[in-house]
Amino acid sequence: MDKKKLIAGNWKMNGGLTANEALMRAILQGIGAPACDVAVCVPAPYLAQVQALTAGSPVALGAQDVSAHAQGAYTGEQSAAMLGDFDVRYAIVGHSERRQYHGESDETVAAKATAALTQGMTPIACVGETLAQREAGETEAVVKRQLAAIIHANGRCISEMVVAYEPVWAIGTGKTATPEQAQAVHAVLRTQLRHAVGARADLVRILYGGSMNAGNAAQLLAQEDIDGGLIGGAALKAADFLQIIAAAH
Ligand code: PEP
Repeated sequence: MDKKKLIAGNWKMNGGLTANEALMRAILQGIGAPACDVAVCVPAPYLAQVQALTAGSPVALGAQDVSAHAQGAYTGEQSAAMLGDFDVRYAIVGHSERRQYHGESDETVAAKATAALTQGMTPIACVGETLAQREAGETEAVVKRQLAAIIHANGRCISEMVVAYEPVWAIGTGKTATPEQAQAVHAVLRTQLRHAVGARADLVRILYGGSMNAGNAAQLLAQEDIDGGLIGGAALKAADFLQIIAAAH
């Protein structure tokens, strides 16, 4: 099924007012009319700034996390409704750095996806195995367990979600999964989605993330079940991000 690819930048905890403006201006200057959907997931304090910079452009705004709760005594968290006030279209949930450093469980990640969907926001739900899990032959079991929790809580809305396969060993390490390794896991995820929701599974965009860059993007994006990329380091350099966007058609 034909669907537009999605290239989403994850700025992580990088940037500042001056750097953000320079980066966004350079991206917007070079982006033209992209063949794919494009988003930047920025640190929460800069949502208003980047909302203003991207208004009326082909670049959508994303957040890097969202609370599972609607409101109340959850110090430090942002609800989906609050993010919606800044025209946030996408929210990353379950990034491996949140799972690893903030102890987020599969159930928490699923609840965050639900919270985003409830506000009409598209969750980018991340799954992926560690190096130890891959070496122990557990890749398939791990990603299926992570995705199962998300499907269980959100099956009805599955076609409004984005899934990102991000092998933990490839994130920020410069070690990319080969296109064949990535495609093999994407096919597993697609099959799992098909078992859950039938043909609607083909509407779900499954992104690859993990050291995707200007040099390897085209080959990764040519794989049958790779419907875009979640880009960390390379999203902080306008020229690299633009090359990845150009490779996504
Ligand atoms: C990420 O953080 O989602 C990511 C894929 O990072 P990098 O591209 O730097 O590996």
